[in-house]
Amino acid sequence: MRILITNDDGINAPGLAVLTEIAEGLAGAGGEVWCVAPAFEQSGVGHAISYTQPMMVSELSPRRYAVQGSPADCVLAGLHDILNGNPPDLVLSGVNRGNNAAENAVYSGTLGAAMEAALQGVPAIALSQFHGPANRDLDDAFDASRQHGLATVQRLLDKGVWNNDDYGIFYNVNFPPVPASSVKGLRAARQGFRRDIGFGVQPHTSPSGRRFLWVTGAPQQEPTSPGSDAAVNLEGYISVTPMRADLTAHDILEPLKAIE
Ligand code: MN
Repeated sequence: MRILITNDDGINAPGLAVLTEIAEGLAGAGGEVWCVAPAFEQSGVGHAISYTQPMMVSELSPRRYAVQGSPADCVLAGLHDILNGNPPDLVLSGVNRGNNAAENAVYSGTLGAAMEAALQGVPAIALSQFHGPANRDLDDAFDASRQHGLATVQRLLDKGVWNNDDYGIFYNVNFPPVPASSVKGLRAARQGFRRDIGFGVQPHTSPSGRRFLWVTGAPQQEPTSPGSDAAVNLEGYISVTPMRADLTAHDILEPLKAIE
């Protein structure tokens, strides 16, 4: 199997080393793992692409490239330049440091890369490691994703629905904030929503007296509605959420006929 890996935490992020282990296990001895990842951290850039400027691409070692661009840029560079004419069987993005459950999914560069791969007709999975009190101080905060990542991806390739009609399906996987030995299993879960506790801003003054705002995040240990992604993660399950880039609210189309 030929696999393209990327992330949004940058090419030197510990989670990308975890994903490299997963991908090499999946690819097998005769397979290939190609890494095309952002030169610097790109968390929170979503599905952004560098539309108004070029991106520098540097080959660091065989099959390993740093791109001065977004995660979606990395997928475009990988598919259309580095692997030009010979697309991979799978794109994996992550393993993100922190969960991409609930509303985080909308901002996530990790998911942006997977979504771009799906738009390009390549099967894609985003992987993220939820951090919390039960795992963030372990020697390996990525223990759950490191130990369960390969089996999870393999299970999804075997049993998942892979539909590349128009927008195609990609998968968002979140590993729970517990040690690997405490992981209870896999759950198919919808994207949750952390009501009333979304992102905000906090003002700060620079040494020169200028006013700046830092974006502040929501409390990540609050469960979402029962059975949805962050809720099952906080119960110790790996969540698997099928997604597509079609943003149409399909359930509203029929009632919207009232405007015709
Ligand atoms: Mn990130």
